[in-house]
Amino acid sequence: MPILSDIKNYIGGRYVDSAGTERFETRNPATGEVLAIVEQAVASDLGAALQSARAGFSTWRQKTGAERGRILRRAADILRARNEELARLEVLDTGKPWQEAIAVDVLSGADCLDYFGGIAAAIHGDHFQLGSNFAYTRREPLGVCAGIGAWNYPLQIACWKAAPALACGNAMLFKPAELTPITAAKLAEIFTEAGLPDGVFNVVQGDARVGRWLTTSPGIAKVSLTGEVGTGKAVMAAAADTLKHVTLELGGKSPIIVFDDADLDAAVSGAILGNFYTQGEICSNGTRVFVQRPVLDEFLDRLARRAERIRIGDPMDPETQMGALISEEHGQRVMAYIEAGTREGARLVCGGRRASVQGCECGWFIEPTVFADCRDDMTIVREEIFGPVMTVLAFEGEEEVIARANDTIFGLSAGVFTRDLSRGHRVIAALDAGTCWINTYNVTPIEIPFGGFKQSGIGRENSLAAIEHYTQLKTVYVETGKLAAPY
Ligand code: NDP
Repeated sequence: MPILSDIKNYIGGRYVDSAGTERFETRNPATGEVLAIVEQAVASDLGAALQSARAGFSTWRQKTGAERGRILRRAADILRARNEELARLEVLDTGKPWQEAIAVDVLSGADCLDYFGGIAAAIHGDHFQLGSNFAYTRREPLGVCAGIGAWNYPLQIACWKAAPALACGNAMLFKPAELTPITAAKLAEIFTEAGLPDGVFNVVQGDARVGRWLTTSPGIAKVSLTGEVGTGKAVMAAAADTLKHVTLELGGKSPIIVFDDADLDAAVSGAILGNFYTQGEICSNGTRVFVQRPVLDEFLDRLARRAERIRIGDPMDPETQMGALISEEHGQRVMAYIEAGTREGARLVCGGRRASVQGCECGWFIEPTVFADCRDDMTIVREEIFGPVMTVLAFEGEEEVIARANDTIFGLSAGVFTRDLSRGHRVIAALDAGTCWINTYNVTPIEIPFGGFKQSGIGRENSLAAIEHYTQLKTVYVETGKLAAPY
């Protein structure tokens, strides 16, 4: 018996029975237990959701920014008040440890709603003086936007997409990943409770078929995807037919560069945070750790000692620091990468095995894994693994490491550890990456833009930059004199 009631599509401010008969299960990745049966949206459900969103949009866009902001901030308050309940659901659905979900996942979603709620009233166009004539711009919403989420931060991703979209006056159809459908539906309930007009935020459930419908439907003005590079390419190609706006937050294989003057403990902390948090299932992870030769042995020694102490366990246990990977299929994929690493000659420093956890025998728990003696051409160095696997590479000098760090199709993130801040800024300036850190890693407060260069994405989430991606400018030129026709 599922522990939660069935999850239906959330359309027009309530749960609605699907017109289709297809259902899927969402399971706890740690235990295999069925959490809920979910109704897969079919074309007529999606059509109804779009119609509802259009109606919601026509009301919502007429509201002032201040009115929109109040509702978003109320939703933030509800999220905070229900942190424990929502964190528990996120742990059950994703397998991530309780201590992360309770401290980050829900509260960062609330921060996002607060942030965009706070600036909604400040979104405005410009005024241009042109002699006695003038022009102005109106910053207008795009219309009905689609959000498509990945499974690693289901609630946070839904907030990152919904908050700026709604603050700007858009409506949204949001599709969570099929593996993690629960908390986006909860967010829709919370929006309704906060006073959001019906139809402004709808959740449509299902697999890639739903995603494809959203990217091809002529009634949708924009798609914002968080997912793999391949999915991003498919979404962009599909969206081209109706020339939708796209924001793509995709994968990465980001470098962390540790110079020999770095605070080594801080660098080890950065590498651990940037590889093992959320079982390594984070897009911006710094999975290629370049360490300058003189400090390499010491770095590896300290790293292995700390990685081996990380507590793997039942995700609901407050002591657990690393939980279960999202699915068996993904766990096997990560294990295949680990085998490829050994086969191609990398040296296993620690980890490398599936761990067993009492009471969670179905779960795919993988030890924090560090490979040393890695070469740039190895599979584990080139491809995104999305699991707890760190590759460590030796380097000699600054120019060399910049060239090697940039030698990838990805460009999501980068980190530099050094006490020489001139060098820190110089190296960061030379790296092809959208989100960078000096002497820390993976810190992403809502105030700063987040997104990638190269094949890691297009557009930015969070910060004022997101406003650009959910609005369009209307330019209005005003003639104050008499128009003289030239012929
Ligand atoms: P996927 O690309 O497999 O899926 C992402 C979403 O897209 C899911 O909801 C999926 O549906 C949907 N989808 C799949 N195919 C299509 C399609 N053709 N058209 C429209 N939608 C589609 O990614 P994962 O869920 O496996 O997430 C892991 C990936 O996400 C990693 O590469 C990671 O780096 C990236 N990511 C990027 C982040 C960033 O901000 N840059 C943050 C987090 C993750 P369904 O799953 O239901 O089939």
